[in-house]
Amino acid sequence: MSTAVLNNGVIHVSDQCKACDHCTSICPTGAIQGRLGEKHHIEIRKCINCGQCLINCPFGAIDDFSMVNERIRKALDNPHQFVVVQEAPAVRVALGEEFGLAPGTNVKNKMYAALRKLGFDKVYDTEFAADLTITEEGTELIHRVFNALGVPGFEHAGPLPQFTSCCPAWVKYAEDNYPQILPHISTAKSPQQMFGAVSKTYLAEKLSLDPGTIYSVSVMPCTAKKYECDRPEFIASGYKDVDAVMTTRELAQMIKTAGIDFVNLPDERADQFIGSSTGAATIFGVTGGVMEAALRTAYEVLSGEALGKVDFQAVRGLDPVREAVVEVPVKALGGKTLPVSVCIVTGTRYVAPIIEDVLADRSNYHFIEVMNCPGGCINGGGQPIRRDTY
Ligand code: SF4
Ligand code: SF4
Ligand code: SF4
Repeated sequence: MSTAVLNNGVIHVSDQCKACDHCTSICPTGAIQGRLGEKHHIEIRKCINCGQCLINCPFGAIDDFSMVNERIRKALDNPHQFVVVQEAPAVRVALGEEFGLAPGTNVKNKMYAALRKLGFDKVYDTEFAADLTITEEGTELIHRVFNALGVPGFEHAGPLPQFTSCCPAWVKYAEDNYPQILPHISTAKSPQQMFGAVSKTYLAEKLSLDPGTIYSVSVMPCTAKKYECDRPEFIASGYKDVDAVMTTRELAQMIKTAGIDFVNLPDERADQFIGSSTGAATIFGVTGGVMEAALRTAYEVLSGEALGKVDFQAVRGLDPVREAVVEVPVKALGGKTLPVSVCIVTGTRYVAPIIEDVLADRSNYHFIEVMNCPGGCINGGGQPIRRDTY
């Protein structure tokens, strides 16, 4: 396993830096060092790899570590490797921008065709893996709530509130700055890592392949996912869950370099992994989406009732910190209603006071979603860059 990313960081400032100092106001962690008029650099120890500085640098002077040549192309060229690829929902609505299509155009069927032309053996979307994350996260929340209520059998569940775990930039921020909060973070893997683990276990079995020959690639809107895939703990099956990550921008570049006429590609469908998914992944890419999907799962399990009776509007929106209370009738408590208090944070720069409240036992929340990027993964550091705004 390459540890180059972990040792050197994902994001770095190039010699093109014009010392304008814009990036220091963008960075949520104070990782960028330098004053107006002097070349800037990134302090790796503080950087959470979110790539927000990269997509906001007016001079294109910030780059991310690329796995395309050293990992992905080599795997595609290796006849002994079976290369599978997953794609996150936020990619399919941004990729078209790189080919002149209107922002928001869903190009997933052309993207599946392009990925096959690039040589990937199987092409999947991450939707069913997001369902696995949500099931794990929702179940864990229920166990933590039961533990807090003193329901027998749940004494080993973690403390409340539960924080989400699917944004690797947020997780690194917590590790670097508030290690005491870690027991509050969900133990569920992100959809990317869920997919990777399942590709080396269930999929290997289903396709009668040696898991060691499967090379698992993901296409993500996110630079921090590169860091996440190289974290040493993600080898539970004995194999690295995800071997390499490319961003939306890098996939577009691969397609262009291969001379593929993307806009005129005939539509193709993704390969089927397990069957249908709930569509929870589609809202994962937007702030509040993980919270809403997990709440829906928890509501259904706790109440035993069908969906459609809860107004989830309160957890939607774009304010950096939003909160709501969802009344959940709990079957195990004879139908007694439990007010589940939730909070959504978009931007790690806003999370410190919320963590301080939890650590000081002043928080009334049960569940807190934290996503680093403004508006969620749709505005991740791996997405197309619109320089026309400068
Ligand atoms: S925004 Fe770009 S050009 Fe300006 S200081 Fe930062 S890296 Fe340099
Ligand atoms: S990647 Fe994110 S945390 Fe790292 S320097 Fe850039 S803005 Fe700051
Ligand atoms: S919000 Fe999404 S795109 Fe941004 S760092 Fe987190 S996982 Fe990556």
